[in-house]
Amino acid sequence: MKISDITTLLESWAPPALQEDYDNSGLQVGTPDQEVRAALIALDCTEEVVAEAVRRGCDLVIAHHPVIFRGIKSLTGRTGVERTLLAAIRHNVAIYAIHTNLDNVISGVNAEIAARLGLQDLRVLDPKPHQLRKLVVFVPHAHAEAVRSALFGAGAGRIGAYDECSYNLTGEGTFRGGEGTNAFVGTKGERHTGPETRIETVFHAPLERTVLAAMLRAHPYEEVAYDIYPLANTHPGVGSGAIGRLSEPMDEEAFLDRVKEAFGVPALKHTALRGRPVEQVAVCGGSGAFLIGRARAAGADVFVTADVKYHEFFGAEGQLVVADIGHYESEQFTMHLLQRQLRDKLPTFAAHLTETVSNPVHVR
Ligand SMILES: [Zn+2]
Repeated sequence: MKISDITTLLESWAPPALQEDYDNSGLQVGTPDQEVRAALIALDCTEEVVAEAVRRGCDLVIAHHPVIFRGIKSLTGRTGVERTLLAAIRHNVAIYAIHTNLDNVISGVNAEIAARLGLQDLRVLDPKPHQLRKLVVFVPHAHAEAVRSALFGAGAGRIGAYDECSYNLTGEGTFRGGEGTNAFVGTKGERHTGPETRIETVFHAPLERTVLAAMLRAHPYEEVAYDIYPLANTHPGVGSGAIGRLSEPMDEEAFLDRVKEAFGVPALKHTALRGRPVEQVAVCGGSGAFLIGRARAAGADVFVTADVKYHEFFGAEGQLVVADIGHYESEQFTMHLLQRQLRDKLPTFAAHLTETVSNPVHVR
C-alpha cells in the first residue's frame, strides 16, 4: 500500500481544505508514493513515538497534532521536534498529521468525545461559512440521467441525511458551432435548438474538482454550459465544536463524575454549578475556549473542553458549566477514532495505537 492510498482515504473524510489557516495538517515527512506496511496512530508525534514505530515495524506515524507547526530553519537535533524529524528521516518513517480538518467535521474528534459522554442528535456548534456551492448544468434530455448519476456519484446532492438531491427543469437550449468545432448534434455554422434539462444540485466546496470532473466526463457536449454559485447557507456537518443531548437529564455533579470517568481524569476544572439538571452538552476537543459564547447561546448546560484560561472561565456568565478536562485527555480517543476509520475502510492494513503517553501535563 502507498502512503497516498491512506491519505486519500482519510482526506475524503476530513478534507485538508477544512483545516484552519494557522494549521499545518497533511504529509510532513515522506513522499506520497512511499510503500507502507503498518501505521502507528498517536495524538502527538514525539521522539518516543518514532522510536516505538521503528520498534514495532511501522513505517508511518499518523498523528493528530502536526510535529512541524512553525518554520524550521535547521535540523541539528537541538529541540525535541528536530530530533523527532531526524529520527523519522533516518529510519524512513513517514509522518502524517490530521489536525483541525478532523476537528471540523461532525464525524471527527468531537463525535468521539460526544459518544464517550453518551450524547445524541449531535450537530456542529459553530458552522464554518462558505462551505456550500450550487451547481447548475444544462444537459440534453437523453443524457440528463447519466450526468445526474455522475454528479451524485462524485458526492454532489447531499443535504443532511438525504442524498441524490437535485432540481430538474426542462427547456430549450441553443448554440451555434464556430470554426474548429465538432458538435455532438446540429450543423456547424447554424443555430441549433434542442431540448435540455437544467440540473441544479448542491455540493461541499472541497469536492468541486471531483464533481466537475465527473460532470464533464458524463456530459456529451464539447463545451459544457454550467454555473457555480457560492451559497450563504451553512453546512450542518462542518465547523467547530459540537452540541448534543443526553438521553435523560442528569444532575450536574453526576454528569461531571461521568466526564471524569469517561476520560480517566482524577480532577477537572469547572465554573460554578447552577443547581439545574444537565441535558444539552457542548464539546470541543483541545483548546475550545473560543466557543464558550457559542455554547452558551446554543443553550448548552455544560461545555466540555480544555485549555481554558482564568478570564475565559468568566464567559460562562453563570448560564452554563464550563469544564476543562485537559487537552490530551479531551482528545485521547481521537486515536481510536482514526484506527476504526482505517480498519473499516482498509481491513487488511495494520493500524496500531501507540503505547506512548505523550501528555506533557501531569495532575496529582
Ligand atoms: Zn489538540
